[in-house]
Amino acid sequence: PSFDWANFAASLSPVEVIEEPVLIKKRSRDFFWYSPVLNAQLKKCFGDLVAVPHTKDEMRHCLQRAYEADVPVTLRGGGTGNYGQAVPLQGGLILETTKMNRILEIGDGYVRAEAGALMADVNAALIAQGWEMAMFPSTQDIATIGGFVAGGSAGIGSIANGALREKGNIMQLKAFSLEAEPQEHVFDAEDALQLHHAWGLNGVITEVTLRTVPHRHWIGCMATFDSYEACYAAGYALATSTQIGRKLASTVEARIVAYFPRLKDHLREGKHLLVSLVPAEDMEALRALIKAQGGHLDLAMSDAERQAAKLPHVFEFAYNHTTLQVLKADRSATYQQIGVPDPADARAVAAVGAALGNDVWQHHEFARVDGKIVAFDLPIIWFTDEARLREIDKTYEAHGHSVADAHTYFVEGGGLKNADYRHLAWKKRMDPKGLLNPGKSRAWEEVKHLPAEEIEAKAKG
Ligand code: FAD
Repeated sequence: PSFDWANFAASLSPVEVIEEPVLIKKRSRDFFWYSPVLNAQLKKCFGDLVAVPHTKDEMRHCLQRAYEADVPVTLRGGGTGNYGQAVPLQGGLILETTKMNRILEIGDGYVRAEAGALMADVNAALIAQGWEMAMFPSTQDIATIGGFVAGGSAGIGSIANGALREKGNIMQLKAFSLEAEPQEHVFDAEDALQLHHAWGLNGVITEVTLRTVPHRHWIGCMATFDSYEACYAAGYALATSTQIGRKLASTVEARIVAYFPRLKDHLREGKHLLVSLVPAEDMEALRALIKAQGGHLDLAMSDAERQAAKLPHVFEFAYNHTTLQVLKADRSATYQQIGVPDPADARAVAAVGAALGNDVWQHHEFARVDGKIVAFDLPIIWFTDEARLREIDKTYEAHGHSVADAHTYFVEGGGLKNADYRHLAWKKRMDPKGLLNPGKSRAWEEVKHLPAEEIEAKAKG
């Protein structure tokens, strides 16, 4: 209780620190407020100090001091995660990476950047050289590349290039351990997956190397349909098309589209929306597809045309941005993350929609996992209480859907690291005192006293 934070802050010198309580509180939050459940649990969790290292040496210095003083360390990039990943549950030091933001190397098919590089900056630098990120989150204007790898999973581009965890997408990570003498470890390919989506629990990522793909001239498209079933079917047809390139295909129910005021003058009213990004040379094929599926192409814009029209990127109506558009108008909305069992079955998707009730509005994303197109529903849910939320989960499950719970701050909760002890074996090696982002792993509490080898054996057995 009597820890001397001023003294600790002074020990970090010459590293930039933030000591104003209001600013520390701001840096202790992310987008967990999407979930009323998480909001109640996390809104009063704050760090004690923020440090903003500009270089690896400064980062190492902060880690060394934290280790000596037994101070919990929570990493923070842009703070755009949705599960409270970046919230310091047990107080302590928030290490913000945004000043470690250099793009280090752009080569054929890859980019290497410091963890705090802004996703939008990385994308812009790549495009200038004829490349683009294989995928990026719709929060690219705030999110960092390190935060994406440590806290994210997929994004715009995943429909063509898979999720982040798919082979070849994360090429290399470098990360510091939290020890008396922090060591920088290099994790290649497979090994890097232990740190991916581990929320900074098992290493402090300093550098990220991601796969890139040749840049294409993308057209942002908005097509509308009379029924959601037809809209979804068109989304699936686009997602599986062998003739049309695409890096986004999202379908949004008309009730949600009513919350997109900036598109009001551009879309047919009361219709269901297919949002996509398609290369210019495939536009004719896209028009044919939409027509064949009974839809109407309302809007097709190059990025320059979009800017001239002062419209947002089309991807600001996709992924978790869809939810954000509704939340801007009404904070009683929330969402869930639902896997669709058979993405080809538009009828079944409509059937679960009908079974759910008026407080659940559907929104689907298509992505590629291990070479196959999958669909997931990120519905808008009009929140009443947690009991109703869990009932909605059950309805989805009764229809064969899977739930990756968006309303938990445990790393095991959402699915990716479910019962995966390999990343905890690395935690034992990288963070022997358990100071990194404490409180976010249930399984860690159960194995933290074991040597790394035994934790690894649990993963195999
Ligand atoms: P932060 O929120 O700062 O951090 C995320 C996690 O990584 C935290 O646990 C943090 O401790 C850890 N971390 C950060 N930096 C490091 C580091 N250097 N070393 C170790 N650990 C670190 N996510 C997607 O995957 N796809 C999407 O399409 C997507 N769309 C979104 C849309 C909206 C509107 C919102 C609000 C969120 C969305 N997200 C999405 C979630 C989130 O924006 C992304 O995952 C984003 O890339 C996170 O980056 P960040 O810099 O904000 O990370």
